[in-house]
Amino acid sequence: MSMPRVETAEGPVDHLVSFCSSLRRYTRGGIRAPNKPVTLLWALDRVAREEPRLTPFAVAEVELRPLLDTFGTPGTAASYAFWRLRSNGFWEVTQTGPLPARSGDKEPLITAMRRHAEGGFTESVHRRLKASPSLRETLERLLEGQLEGPSMYSPASKSNSWQTVRRLGRDRAFRSAVFRAYGSRCVVCGWGAKLNGRSLALDAAHIRAVSAGGSNDVDNGLPLCSFHHQLFDAGVFTWSAKRRLMIHPAWQDRDRGEMPSLLDHQGEVLLGPSMRRDRAAEVNLAWHRTHVFASRGRFRFSQHSSAAPS
Ligand SMILES: [Zn+2]
Repeated sequence: MSMPRVETAEGPVDHLVSFCSSLRRYTRGGIRAPNKPVTLLWALDRVAREEPRLTPFAVAEVELRPLLDTFGTPGTAASYAFWRLRSNGFWEVTQTGPLPARSGDKEPLITAMRRHAEGGFTESVHRRLKASPSLRETLERLLEGQLEGPSMYSPASKSNSWQTVRRLGRDRAFRSAVFRAYGSRCVVCGWGAKLNGRSLALDAAHIRAVSAGGSNDVDNGLPLCSFHHQLFDAGVFTWSAKRRLMIHPAWQDRDRGEMPSLLDHQGEVLLGPSMRRDRAAEVNLAWHRTHVFASRGRFRFSQHSSAAPS
């Protein structure tokens, strides 16, 4: 039965498979706690992308936070699963400096982890995962199953597959990375207004469209205000090989009006629409005045909105 040659690798790999298939293990108080599955899916994705085996926690935290914010247990730090997974034999956390312990079996102080902790699959497991796309697929399917079913997060997440998890996380990571790279300003006009610390009407635009195979890497992104993003996506302008902005000859915007100051519209009446039944309902306007206007934009319409914090 035993096969000595592969024993060192099979043990932890088998354990990883059974860990990924034991759904109940992740429930806390009857509620699914998907921080570990999300962290493992993230790690499997890194293996597929041929990233280094160990990831500094500071890097992992940046990549995991948007995923955990969307699909993890609210209020749980990225360090939770990253640290606790190491008790399973297929995962390790190495330290490049002191990691002072906290009380109980809690993870070390997050500030120390950011400075000194690196984590990932153990060497033998990593080797097997790297060599076996089908093993990775099996594990992904098992873990995806844990992001479905009864959960404490948004109802929409129940039907989302890992692809959606990944896309949402990458959209946010992409946006953050692009803004970080360029500063949170439109590269055309310099628009960079913020409200409560969040950029408004500013997008991370893909240079090559995702639908055309464009990546979510920073080098495929530019911060553009919503206006210039639309013009850019419509092909009104581009940049030459010498990186000079070139405008399509068909474009005319002289005497077509300028982007006006909001203050110019102070006091204007909300007109239309032509169909009276389509008019904005007073109950909705009242809600907006109370919950959005009065709180100066602190209300978030959707956790998936493009106005996510950058
Ligand atoms: Zn702009």
